[in-house]
Amino acid sequence: MSIMKIFETMDYGVAPENTDEAFNWLNDHNKKFGQFINGEFLKDKKAKYFDTCNPANGEKLAQITQGSKKDVDMAVTAANIAQDSWAKLSGFQRAKYLYSIARLIQKHSRLFAVLESLDNGKPIRESRDVDIPLVIRHFYHHAGWAQLMEDKLEDYEAIGVAGQIIPWNFPLLMMAWKIAPAIAAGNTVVLKPAEYTSLTALLFAEICQQAGLPKGVVNIITGDGKTGSELVNHKDVDKIAFTGSTAVGRMIREQTAGSGKKLTLELGGKSAFIVFDDADIDSAIEGLVDAIWFNQGQVCCAGSRLLVQESIADRFHEKLKARMQKLRVGDPLDKSVDIGAIVDESQQKQIAGLVKIGVEEGADLFQPDIKMPQCGYFYPPTLLSEVDTAHHVAQEEIFGPVLVSMTFRTPNEAVALANNTRYGLACSIWSENINLAMDMAPKVVAGVVWINCTNQFDAAAGFGGKKESGFGREGGIEGMHAYLKPKYEKKLKAIKAQKPFELKIKHSTATVDRTPKFYIGGKQARPDGGYSQSVISAKGELLAHIGKGNRKDIRNAVEATTKAIGWTNTTAHNRAQVLYFIAENLALRADEFITHIQSLTGNSKKQAENEVYASIERLFYYAAYADKLDGAVHTVPVRGVVLAMPEANGIMGIVCPDESPLLGFVSLMAASIAMGNRVVMIPSQTSALMALEFYQILETSDVPAGVVNIVTGDKNELAQVLADHYEVESIWYFGDQAGSTLVEKASAASLKRTWVNNGKSRDWFDNKVSQGLEFLNQATDVKNIWTPYGE
Ligand code: NDP
Repeated sequence: MSIMKIFETMDYGVAPENTDEAFNWLNDHNKKFGQFINGEFLKDKKAKYFDTCNPANGEKLAQITQGSKKDVDMAVTAANIAQDSWAKLSGFQRAKYLYSIARLIQKHSRLFAVLESLDNGKPIRESRDVDIPLVIRHFYHHAGWAQLMEDKLEDYEAIGVAGQIIPWNFPLLMMAWKIAPAIAAGNTVVLKPAEYTSLTALLFAEICQQAGLPKGVVNIITGDGKTGSELVNHKDVDKIAFTGSTAVGRMIREQTAGSGKKLTLELGGKSAFIVFDDADIDSAIEGLVDAIWFNQGQVCCAGSRLLVQESIADRFHEKLKARMQKLRVGDPLDKSVDIGAIVDESQQKQIAGLVKIGVEEGADLFQPDIKMPQCGYFYPPTLLSEVDTAHHVAQEEIFGPVLVSMTFRTPNEAVALANNTRYGLACSIWSENINLAMDMAPKVVAGVVWINCTNQFDAAAGFGGKKESGFGREGGIEGMHAYLKPKYEKKLKAIKAQKPFELKIKHSTATVDRTPKFYIGGKQARPDGGYSQSVISAKGELLAHIGKGNRKDIRNAVEATTKAIGWTNTTAHNRAQVLYFIAENLALRADEFITHIQSLTGNSKKQAENEVYASIERLFYYAAYADKLDGAVHTVPVRGVVLAMPEANGIMGIVCPDESPLLGFVSLMAASIAMGNRVVMIPSQTSALMALEFYQILETSDVPAGVVNIVTGDKNELAQVLADHYEVESIWYFGDQAGSTLVEKASAASLKRTWVNNGKSRDWFDNKVSQGLEFLNQATDVKNIWTPYGE
């Protein structure tokens, strides 16, 4: 072809990447891999194998072991044995191993990239320039966290053995996101890669050997979902970290309920890509290419829902179609290819099936007229416009190169559309008006917001979702917290069951009959069911009858919290003032509460005084913190800033402990509302009457209606209703083991964040254990807002 012809067509030639080294590596292993347990590859003659293939041409690459229950057991045992001494190494010693791993991956980076593209089908440009550099960055960054643990996380320690399950879309990167923080923190791991894409994890196992990583610190178990399930349910695993589909995430939540295992879930998404009429349109189009055609759209945070302002929609779609016409679909190992192969035929069929449904529902289909490969599993870049919010394709995660498009007129409409999904993973906002973009960012329910950029990731910035996108963060200090537990936790003792006081004095000694009601929406409310329960004093006197709440009462209370959204949006200074005022009013009525505590608990006057004064101090403590949980500006390797902003969970259900009836109630209420949450409080049976007395204090302290609601009744029955409620975004439970289990299990449906005590009691007077950052972190979620700058 002449130079002139090349300039005329501007066609790219073929630029194949050399695959020899990757195949040499496969051949060195006879294209057959055993499990990596306790620092060695096992050779099990009885093992069953499955094939892993190149999705671009169907060629078989290797045979992988199907993990058995025995394999999982051996790996968990190895991890357990290794954990203690690994955690006891100094931060510096662990850092050296992580550094060594980072360097070794760097030295073999091309081999990793080629192997990843062969196994997964992603373009070599992406595995070489995005996945592998991010993997390396992750190990470097976490070498730093290992080093700084003693400095920055001195009150925390490793959880133990982490079971980690990852998907096929970013095999090595997801592995790095899981393993690096876990081992930096002193945990040991058993990781199960996805069935389709195990090869780079197995190459990584060799890197661990080369780095001299102590045996058992990293174990890789290959296999399918059954192997994953064995890992989830293994009794000696202390933490499960899962990335994958929402359906499996939900199942894992149910299976781990009540086991005491810590859990983080990174699940699906249907993230909005919002383009305002003042956006730099050409940049937004390129952003969109990255948002939905990166990794063939098989990205949990893909910008798969385009929301474009109506005034520019036609022009934008036109430009987008022209750009799509230039996308190159083909051999992933060709360096000039934009879109590679779909991971497997089943995934390709799923994508095609969803697109068909979209068209049947009335969407306008556009696929560019471009050359498609004749073999392998490929799918063309696709645009579905004229889509309605109720359409299947607007709500379901397609997990392929398919963009759905809708229009909006006003910023408020854009927010409403962006949030009209069960997911809450990411959002991309395009506007040259930084005021508008920064105003939108907090309003969108998502763990990550990208302003004038998209699909940005870095080890220093947390990543994770809200709603059905899961809970927990990976990356940054939040990601470290996911692999740590407070040191005091191991000292907590099981709650001793308290016998309720018996009614001994049948006649009432109260001069006037007392019937405290619920406190809902700033008003006293009668129980819907019309049932009451008696409150008996320590001396056996009948003190009062209080309402026995039911499902309807909880629903009313939750509805009241939804109306109190102003509390979340008000300034932290205002919230602090209100908390100080509650403290002031409690101090004014201290004597009354001292008497209540004495009669309800039988405690001495001194003990009761201590509890009231500690409660006043705790209110001061959280008033002080209301405007001091500042978040951070992360240093990431881009020209720009990442603002890590703690946000209130939103609507919370709080089930209070039996111990320290006033202090327990106040500690949980104050921590949560200081951060801007609105709460439905379920006091314990012992504290119910006192909590109802407390609403008189709330009423006189300028607490807006609906911010704190109190419903009394059977604690676990009401906890179940709260956990089942879809509007409740997070739930804290302090009670018995059965209650902890039911809360975690019931929360699986809505995938709400939970914090339960697993039947352990804590000393509510001990500031180290019962106040502080742990409470504030549980009351908030960090949103990372990426804001690049420069012309
Ligand atoms: P899954 O959630 O099924 O798989 C993720 C990981 O979990 C894999 O390692 C898988 O093993 C394992 N697994 C499967 N079942 C269980 C189980 N019962 N217990 C424990 N582990 C289990 O996702 P898929 O790979 O099947 O993809 C299905 C859909 O999920 C996609 O179409 C996409 O919509 C979504 N998805 C979302 C991702 C995200 O990051 N948000 C990532 C991947 C998929 P194995 O591979 O052997 O099945």
